Parts: sequence; structure tokens; C-alpha cells
Amino acid sequence: MQALIAGNWKMHGTAPQLGDIAGVAAVVRRTHPAADILICPPATLIARAVEAAAGQVAIGGQNCSSESSGAFTGDLSAEMLKDAGAAWVILGHSERRQHHGETNSMVAAKAQAAWRGGLLTIICIGETGAQRKAGQAQTVCADQIRASVPEDMAVIGNAIGYEPLWAIGSGHVPALDEIEEAHSNIRKCLVERLGKRGREVRILYGGSVEPENARAILTVPEVGGALVGGASLNPSDFEAIVKAVPSHA
Ligand code: PEP
Repeated sequence: MQALIAGNWKMHGTAPQLGDIAGVAAVVRRTHPAADILICPPATLIARAVEAAAGQVAIGGQNCSSESSGAFTGDLSAEMLKDAGAAWVILGHSERRQHHGETNSMVAAKAQAAWRGGLLTIICIGETGAQRKAGQAQTVCADQIRASVPEDMAVIGNAIGYEPLWAIGSGHVPALDEIEEAHSNIRKCLVERLGKRGREVRILYGGSVEPENARAILTVPEVGGALVGGASLNPSDFEAIVKAVPSHA
């Protein structure tokens, strides 16, 4: 299973930042990292990002509708993202769960729509700081897997993003043994839910991944890559994270 390093640009980026994608593509061409590299810019940039990526970096969306088309002003379907050149979509990011009221069942419906539309998915889960303090981190993640990962997940390439909410954008990262415990719990839940196919899903760690901590995180057992927010906006940081992929990851 090849690792996946995914950059989530969130609501950042206009045409001048396309050069950053071309820069990452040049690094990938030169260094052949042992990982798939993905950048998810705002949807307005997807088509131009695909050109800038020159086949070296996959491009994805940050959300899609659970519907294919219809009277849903402002929404974008998986088919539309695919048509623009996206290969991936991030679903159920905590910012969408928090600010747009996305529930586990909505995320599951979006995942079905994404797969129907020909996209690979990163389905995000993760506990809040209060839940971790209350000792509920593992049960919260298990419940999110059961309710937001459809059982018919076709596995080749798809990923789960484990993003503890308290680590996102905070500069605080769980200890490596906490990451290992969370990822092995997620693996167990995936196998319970998907059978043997559950062993093939990549589990990405996300939350304050930086050039300084990337290599250590990427060598933790069951970490199949990283979902990178803030550091993906700085091309030299993102390139350093790409270069930190261990050769066996
Ligand atoms: C994210 O929002 O997906 C994320 C991981 O952000 P950051 O890397 O900035 O913590």
C-alpha cells in the first residue's frame, strides 16, 4: 500500500498559487517519493491545478454533494469535480462537520456519491479535545467509522483521515504512541466493518503535520500517509513533507 500525502488548501488560493503546484510537481518528478501526492485546492482552481500538476500530483476537491445534479444552488457534484479533473475528494472534514452541520450519515451519502462519480475519497474522522480528556477518543472514532464509512467501500486507493480536532491548526500533535493507538483502533474498526478489505484502506494522520515532525509520524505503524492543512500552503514546507516520506512507507 503506497502512502498518500495530501494537502488541503481549505479556502485559500487564487491563480498566483498555481505556481506552487507546479513546484511540488517538479519535486515529485525529481525525487520519486514513495507516496502518492495529492493537493486539494479550492474548486475554482481544480481545472488549472490539473494542468499545473502535469500528471505528477493528483488534484482533489474538498467536499461534494450527495446528489449528482439538481436544484442545489452553490453545490458541486462528484461528477462535476471529476469533469474538472479531480481524482479525489475530502469528505467529512471537521470544519464541514462543525460549520456546515455535516452528520455521519450525510458524509456516508457523500462517499457513495463520490464513488458513483468516479472519485477516490478521504473520509475524515477524529475526536475533540474534551472527548480525548474524557477517555472517549477510541469510541468516538469507532462510532464515526461505523456511521460514516459505507460498507460497500471499494477499497483500492481510498483513505480515512484521522484528524484529532484539537491538533488541527494548533501546533499540538498527539504523542507517537497515541497516534499508533488511534490508528490501530481505526484499523480494527475497518476490518470489522469491511472484512479483509479493511486492511487495504490507507489511514492518514492529520493535525499540525510540519516538516519537523513528518518523518516521525510517517514511520508510526498503521500510518499510511498525512493530511496536511497549514503546511500545504507553504510550498517549501509541503515539499519538505513530501521528501520526508520514508522509502518503505
Ligand atoms: C486539516 O485541516 O486537515 C489539517 C490537518 O490542518 P493543519 O495541518 O493545519 O493542522
